[in-house]
Amino acid sequence: VSELLRRLRERGWRITPQRRAIAHVLAGEHVHLTAEQVFESARSTVPEISLATVYNTLKELVAMGEVSEVANGGGPVRFDSNVERPHHHLTCLECGSLVDVYPEGERSLSLKDSHGYEVVGVTITYHGYCPDCTGEAAAPN
Ligand SMILES: [Zn+2]
Ligand SMILES: [Zn+2]
Repeated sequence: VSELLRRLRERGWRITPQRRAIAHVLAGEHVHLTAEQVFESARSTVPEISLATVYNTLKELVAMGEVSEVANGGGPVRFDSNVERPHHHLTCLECGSLVDVYPEGERSLSLKDSHGYEVVGVTITYHGYCPDCTGEAAAPN
C-alpha cells in the first residue's frame, strides 16, 4: 500500500476502484504527472475511468492537501503526492523532466522582501538541462 493511499484511508476517504487507481499512479517520489498522464495510466487498471473523474479527484486531493500542484513554466500543471517532505523542484527546459530536490539551508525572505505578507511557504523551481539532454548521462567520469 502506498504512502498516499495509507494517508487517504486514515482520513476516511472513500476508496473506489477509480480513486485507488489514481492514488496508485500518483504515489512515490519524483512522480509529477499531468492530469492527462494520470488518466492514461489509471485507465490501464480501470478502463472505464473518465477524464472528468480524474480531474475531479485531483481537485479534491489538492483541496485536501494530499497532493500539490506544481507549476511548470508554460506547460500543464503537474500533480505531486510527495507532500509530507517539503521540497523544491529541478526541471529540464528541454524535455520537461522534473525531479524533487532538497537543497540545504533555509530559503526564507528577509522582512524587507516580504512586502508585509505573512509568508507560510515557499516553492522553488530550478531550471536547467538534464543529463539526457546535455548528453552527459553516459559520459564516463
Ligand atoms: Zn532533459
Ligand atoms: Zn515534487
